Amino acid sequence: MGKTGGFMQYARELPADRMPQLRILDWREFHDHMPEDKLRQQGARCMDCGVPFCHSDKTGGCPVNNLIPEWNDLVYNGQWEDAIVRLWKTNNFPEFTGRVCPAPCEGSCVLGINEPPVTIKSIEAAIIDRAWERGLVKPNPPEKRTGKKVAVVGSGPAGLAAADQLNKAGHLVTVYERADRIGGLLMYGIPNMKLDKRVVVERRVKIMEDEGVKFVTNAHVGVTHDGHNLLKDFDAVILATGATKPRDLPVPGRNLKGVHFAMEFLTANTKSLLDSNHADGQYINAKDKNVIVIGGGDTGNDCLGTSMRHGCKSLVNFELLPEPPAGRAPDNPWPQWPRILRTDYGHEESTNKFGKDPREFAILTKEFLGDAQGNLRGLKTVRVEWAKENGQFKMKEMPGSEQEWKAELVFLAMGFMGPESSVSQQLGIELDPRSNYKADHGRFVTNIPGVFAAGDCRRGQSLVVWAINEGRGAARECDKYLMGVSTLP
Ligand SMILES: Cc1cc2nc3c(=O)[nH]c(=O)nc-3n(C[C@H](O)[C@H](O)[C@H](O)COP(=O)(O)OP(=O)(O)OC[C@H]3O[C@@H](n4cnc5c(N)ncnc54)[C@H](O)[C@@H]3O)c2cc1C
Ligand code: SF4
Repeated sequence: MGKTGGFMQYARELPADRMPQLRILDWREFHDHMPEDKLRQQGARCMDCGVPFCHSDKTGGCPVNNLIPEWNDLVYNGQWEDAIVRLWKTNNFPEFTGRVCPAPCEGSCVLGINEPPVTIKSIEAAIIDRAWERGLVKPNPPEKRTGKKVAVVGSGPAGLAAADQLNKAGHLVTVYERADRIGGLLMYGIPNMKLDKRVVVERRVKIMEDEGVKFVTNAHVGVTHDGHNLLKDFDAVILATGATKPRDLPVPGRNLKGVHFAMEFLTANTKSLLDSNHADGQYINAKDKNVIVIGGGDTGNDCLGTSMRHGCKSLVNFELLPEPPAGRAPDNPWPQWPRILRTDYGHEESTNKFGKDPREFAILTKEFLGDAQGNLRGLKTVRVEWAKENGQFKMKEMPGSEQEWKAELVFLAMGFMGPESSVSQQLGIELDPRSNYKADHGRFVTNIPGVFAAGDCRRGQSLVVWAINEGRGAARECDKYLMGVSTLP
């Protein structure tokens, strides 16, 4: 249970990040590791509460139900190898979540009621990173094959988790991915400084290959590969195609050169970095440009961090909603996810370089402004107010608050509108009212027997840890469909 009274003896600590002014000079991960004695102290802060809210999504905690109090105790006692065995019981890819998860577990940690919560996410990363360093992560192919074949469409965390589980159950799994590299948004969404592609993502894909999972890249199902052939050639299909349709901002000037969706910027940047260390120039370069990112959230923040590394001239980040409070509001009690102001790596780097937080809250873009050649030169905004009317928040523009901003590049990071339609149309997959693939969480089966859906394409744009939850769940249901019963967790 950690150390009796450890939470009174030790304060919460996090691993240091590399200094902002230095880390923007390269694309390497910015988190440093905590020394072992510090990690053990942090594990000692766990209270092993009677009802550990942290490890259940039902109580606002971990969506994959990681056995957090158990591995906190093992880390406190220096039993790292036992800790990784516990972690693998619930999470196929702790090296991803330990780096990029926003850690709802920490929001629901019981210690967090009146003290800073346990440093759960960093302990998770440390357990798996040690396992890799000590050679404990080895290919472990199944002893027996069932002879059943499963196709997984999409290689993001949902597709990878489903493939890993189904392969463990002895099925022959082929993953089809339309991109040239495996990983979905782990590869071509989240930038390298947050999640290293060669060291962390490709290392995991290699283990899965060695265990027998087959990966087919440049395979766009519904376009280059007929979805009906998958139904014929495989015993079951799992759709894990993500929610990649971006929300647009159809205001005057949208077609000017210099206005881009965030993913056009982020995807090309990582591809060019991996292909040629940016020597091929096949990316949108923010160097010496005034950049505005429209939309907060992870995607917006990644656009900030990427623009900083290109050497942009200035950086502003618009958010339509008002600034969140510094602490929990009365209508946002523990163990809910705390809706508070968070300063992420991109905000920190921009503040460090330009001397000002890049965020502008409660602001609405009305028009993009161009020059005679059709190039973006700026945009017009208005400030907005949010007030409750009949119990619902309504937005009102504030007269006289119009403003012009200088920008040669704008990135639209305003969220996603569900999955693209190439597979769903071809196979006749029913959609839900939010235009995601219709399938209940827990059963994951679509309107076509033997075709399952998991991850963002089913639940809408979400988190890596939820994608892993769904990939595991869909694998279990698929295994039941194929074998009658399943022992997959
Ligand atoms: C920029 C950005 C940053 C983010 N940062 C974080 C973060 O820090 N932490 C976090 O928890 N979450 C983050 N998220 C959200 C997280 O990445 C997603 O919730 C998660 O990746 C969803 O996983 P998925 O497997 O469902 O889909 P995806 O990761 O989107 O993978 C879907 C894959 O399917 C492929 N595909 C689609 N259609 C086809 C087809 N017809 N044929 C073949 N392949 C196809 C796509 O090319 C893609 O590779 C971020 C999202 C974005 C956009
Ligand atoms: S996966 Fe996320 S929610 Fe679960 S223990 Fe790790 S950091 Fe916490």
